[in-house]
Amino acid sequence: MTKTFILSIDQGTTSSRAILFDTAGNIVSMAQKELTQYYPHKGWVEHSPSEIWADTLYCLNKLAHDFHEEVSNIVSIGITNQRETTILWNRKTGKAIYPAIVWQDGRTARFCDSLKNDENEKTITQKTGLLLSPYFSASKITWILDNVDGARKMAEDGDIAFGTVDCYLLWKLTKGRVHSTDITNASRTLLFNTREMIWDDELLNMFNIPKSILPDVQDNAYDFGVMDSAIMGRDIPIMGMAGDQHAALIGQACFDDGMIKSTYGTGCFALMNIGDTFRLSDNKLLTTPGYRFDGHMAYALEGSIFVAGAAIQWLRDNLGVIRKAEESETLATSVNDTNGVYFVPAFAGLGAPYWNADVKAAIFGLSRESNAAHITRAALEAQAYQTKDLLNAMISDYGHNMSIIRADGGLVSNDFVCQFIADILQCPIEIPKVSETTALGAAYLAGYQAGIYKSLDDIKETWALNRQFSPTISAEEAHTRYEGWQHAIKTLLG
Ligand code: ADP
Repeated sequence: MTKTFILSIDQGTTSSRAILFDTAGNIVSMAQKELTQYYPHKGWVEHSPSEIWADTLYCLNKLAHDFHEEVSNIVSIGITNQRETTILWNRKTGKAIYPAIVWQDGRTARFCDSLKNDENEKTITQKTGLLLSPYFSASKITWILDNVDGARKMAEDGDIAFGTVDCYLLWKLTKGRVHSTDITNASRTLLFNTREMIWDDELLNMFNIPKSILPDVQDNAYDFGVMDSAIMGRDIPIMGMAGDQHAALIGQACFDDGMIKSTYGTGCFALMNIGDTFRLSDNKLLTTPGYRFDGHMAYALEGSIFVAGAAIQWLRDNLGVIRKAEESETLATSVNDTNGVYFVPAFAGLGAPYWNADVKAAIFGLSRESNAAHITRAALEAQAYQTKDLLNAMISDYGHNMSIIRADGGLVSNDFVCQFIADILQCPIEIPKVSETTALGAAYLAGYQAGIYKSLDDIKETWALNRQFSPTISAEEAHTRYEGWQHAIKTLLG
């Protein structure tokens, strides 16, 4: 039997990748290109849309070159992407009218503040599950329409298209034939009503954005269009699409209520599947569509921790106590415990559930005996305590305990961290065989639509475990250690 493959395009904040999977979910080949970051002013972050496109083409061409004979066996393509990043382009020329404004860009903070009143904030949260924040696309769109010469007039004339990166790539890959996105990417704009799954006129009015610029919104598995044959030598259908964190939820096969995926990269993003009912958080978490396909709709609670692996980078680059991230494990396990040291890595303030932008990082409990190993161990242990803070909020909102936590991202190569998370959470932690869960999620979607996987159960069976960590300390001990962390947080918050 001929082997068949699924192609995933993973356009992230720092790089663009194309990954080829076999139908068992194994990575067969990968191409990657770093993406240039532009910081034109303090607090502004931009990408070049033409570079995003050129890098995507580079990755696809490289795969086609390396994998030349098998291109004919690629059945479908899935796209996953950095979320919220905003691109407006001319429908006639296909050219972006301004650089991509990246999700981290804060230039619209003042504009968002000017919209802030109880009524607007309530409307936004009730309809989108999100917060009025410059992080999401809406205010970025308004900024481009108001600051690029002639943009608003062109938009009103129907000559401008808006898209997040998924949508822009789909447009480019189909040579301008398709202007569509999926529910997860649409849900991050602040313009999409995620209860009713429609673009919302009241929100469009609030941000003064004409509806004509918006893409169609589809399920995550869908016949989105066909990639132009000039790109890889043949037509290949694009059949899957999801924003990166949602794709990771799918790639981790978190299809049951209460399942959590937690990604430990530079920061940490956790999503908990809460089933088919939209439910707002009482603990400052976001409510977001997890996925919709195969007749299943799942919402998720989302929480983010700003600094996860970045704390390890800090130990490496600023303190110089390690040369490589992986050395943190050897150093941390050279001592039996932190000797009472707690490290709260709030370099960028505290995210969920505290949302305090003003606090700074701090190390507590230092004594004359404290050394680099204790501090390093405390930085690794902080990953577990921060996760516990987040999960307490999720459990309180959701009303049940979590069932499984599936973790991924660069930090999970550190066994000490994984074990300590399992210990503090008193819950088993599962690490998947394929670490590229985001790209895998997009591949699962594209494979589902192509008929390779017939159901969510088929995908569940394909998902494979690499390592599992079970709690090795008692609930009382976990509680005592966590109390020390809570004390540190309380002190920090004053
Ligand atoms: P991102 O996708 O955000 O760029 P990655 O998932 O690639 O992040 O993870 C990189 C992060 O993980 C870095 O911050 C790095 O310090 C941390 N990291 C990688 N390997 C280890 C390790 N063995 N121990 C501790 N931290 C690690």
